Amino acid sequence: MIEKDEILGILEGYDKDNLTIATICSHSSLQIFDGARKEGFKTLGICIDKPPKLYDAYPLAKPDEFMVLDNYEHLLERCGELVEKNVILIPHGSLVEYLTPHKFVELRVPTFGNRLVLEWESDRDIERQWLEGAHIPMPIEIESPEKIDRPVIVKYHGAKGGRGFFIAKNKEEFYEKVNPGEKYTIQEFVLGTRYYLHYFYSPIKEDGYTLSKGTLQMLSIDRRIESNVDEIFKLGSLTELMEAGIVPTFVVTGNAPLVVRESLLPRIFEMGAQVVEKSIELFGGMVGAFCLETAITDNLEFRVFEISARIVAGTNPFVSGSPYADLISENLSTGRRIAQEIKMAAKLNRLNEIIS
Ligand code: AMP
Repeated sequence: MIEKDEILGILEGYDKDNLTIATICSHSSLQIFDGARKEGFKTLGICIDKPPKLYDAYPLAKPDEFMVLDNYEHLLERCGELVEKNVILIPHGSLVEYLTPHKFVELRVPTFGNRLVLEWESDRDIERQWLEGAHIPMPIEIESPEKIDRPVIVKYHGAKGGRGFFIAKNKEEFYEKVNPGEKYTIQEFVLGTRYYLHYFYSPIKEDGYTLSKGTLQMLSIDRRIESNVDEIFKLGSLTELMEAGIVPTFVVTGNAPLVVRESLLPRIFEMGAQVVEKSIELFGGMVGAFCLETAITDNLEFRVFEISARIVAGTNPFVSGSPYADLISENLSTGRRIAQEIKMAAKLNRLNEIIS
């Protein structure tokens, strides 16, 4: 991993009044470019082969310029050009996935957020250490198939977007469905309703919901739309489907906006704060957008089954705000909030605290 000191050295040469916000043309890029422009930044879109025609359809979200690559790996060789343009790169899930976490941490360009977080979230066991260390309630993990005593969800390591996960109601079903050649984790299937909570942590903002350092916001909530599990019930019960050889899958195809019972909001802030405080203790703190993927049981208890420590696509329904962001300021997307943080840090000469 490239050392933070080296990145800080690069940052020293930057014209801080002339920063460019860049990201890869996918995932949440529309709101990142739109938000950056609203905050007065120049924007640069990184793409493969040729600029995507899609951006012509959305002029407010079209980056000022494109950097065209043959493949994502070439980004490592083109960092010098990004540095010449005073680029701050915004990592989103697709950027890290296309580049691979391994290569992402080698990028020689100032990047929004703390790269060290990747070590804590790219492995489900290490992620669990972080979240349980922060006293976050998680679904129980079942050590071996023989111990399955309740409905479970089985997650293959490295499965992307929930593809290949399966549900088993008991151990017999587990053995029928499992591919023993692959590494997997067996987790209690949480019976509840799913809420994906989109937070923003600023280490430099001092007013608002304060933590030991900085402040926490919760900007929006969505629910992922997953194919085919969200609609499969139309064909019959899980047992009937299994008999017909039809298996539910969890591939994310989109997102829908949600609000939560207002009485649950204090707990939502507590959980966000616990996760941030623990991250400060473990690796100097995550910065900016993060998401807790949760299910709420009928006892109104949360179970957190995943954390993403950067902007997630579930913030996309909120380009012009959300029922929560509207109570902070108007037209506040997560993309725009990132741009505001960079603007504030540049003004206070504290960019070193929000990039790596
Ligand atoms: P993940 O890759 O952990 O984000 O999980 C993908 C999807 O699987 C989630 O969006 C949920 O729909 C579902 N899921 C994951 N873990 C659980 C769980 N413990 N209980 C119920 N559903 C889950």
